[in-house]
Amino acid sequence: MASKYWRFTKIQRPLRFMEVCGTHTNVISASGIRRLVGNTVKLISGPGCPVCVTAQKDIDWIIALAQKSDVVITTFGDLMRVPGTESNLEQEKACGADIKIVYSPMDALMLAQKTDKNVVFIGVGFETTAPTIAITLIKAKKQRIKNFYLLPLLKLIPPALRKIAQDPRLKIDGFILPGHVSTIIGSKPYEFLVKEYLKPCVITGFEPPDILEALDNLYQQVKSKKYYVAIQYKRCVEVHGNLIAQNLMNEVFVPTDAEWRGLGIIPNSGLKLAKNYENFDVRQYYQITIPEPKRNFCRCGDVLLGLIVPSECSLFGKKCNPTHPVGPCMVSSEGACAAYYKYEH
Ligand code: SF4
Repeated sequence: MASKYWRFTKIQRPLRFMEVCGTHTNVISASGIRRLVGNTVKLISGPGCPVCVTAQKDIDWIIALAQKSDVVITTFGDLMRVPGTESNLEQEKACGADIKIVYSPMDALMLAQKTDKNVVFIGVGFETTAPTIAITLIKAKKQRIKNFYLLPLLKLIPPALRKIAQDPRLKIDGFILPGHVSTIIGSKPYEFLVKEYLKPCVITGFEPPDILEALDNLYQQVKSKKYYVAIQYKRCVEVHGNLIAQNLMNEVFVPTDAEWRGLGIIPNSGLKLAKNYENFDVRQYYQITIPEPKRNFCRCGDVLLGLIVPSECSLFGKKCNPTHPVGPCMVSSEGACAAYYKYEH
């Protein structure tokens, strides 16, 4: 089948499709799709795990903030075991730091109403998470809550895809685009991938048949050389996305340059607070200087960029495993190293 495939595409190698979203990585590993497609298609994991792409210096900053006695850190659970240079939030909590796992930013706001301490929500996530944080800040502003803060580390997917599409080392032939993010932003923000970089794209759902359908669509686009942004995940995604959620984001946040683990600083790929909400940014109130993070042998940066698969990291399954993770990609359930370890090791 492979030779027939390559005859159509005139690409003398397996097609390289990147699944951008960590949940897709997990489903692909768990369902055996990677083995199913064999040598015909190489499925490469991308930067779609928000915890994994958070820069090391930001993790170190959060840990330093957690050591302040007047602060309560509130966070989603997957950040707890992400290694900083010297420690992680789980260890800080064991040493007495006030750190609470919450299931939404609104839980953090409710906590702020019950305490005199400064409650800080760690805003790690993509376009999917940003609207819920936005509505929480709008409520906090209306209710004049003075002890609720945000550490805005939110990131935007399309600018990261531009960086990947233009990287000559990666040779990506098509993108399996994230379903969750696309419910918010729709399909339009990805059109540059087709127009400027001639990359076929499919916004895809999270069941194994969804992913198989997306692979077939990508193959048909490559074969016909007619590229577009297909929406396979029609049950949730519309071309223009969720306008209510977008309006909430636009009221509270503005784009800013952001540092991604592995991808470096990408222009306009993050969100900072808009002028009317700047006073919620915790960085205004705590001047923390952290040393340059120490280098270790973790290759999460190369995994997130699709330069290597997790098993090509020399620590994979040896010094680095889910019990003793060396990098964030082995911690989060959306991390590629964790998925490979659980299902393909
Ligand atoms: S296996 Fe561990 S050390 Fe290697 S890249 Fe993944 S998280 Fe980092």
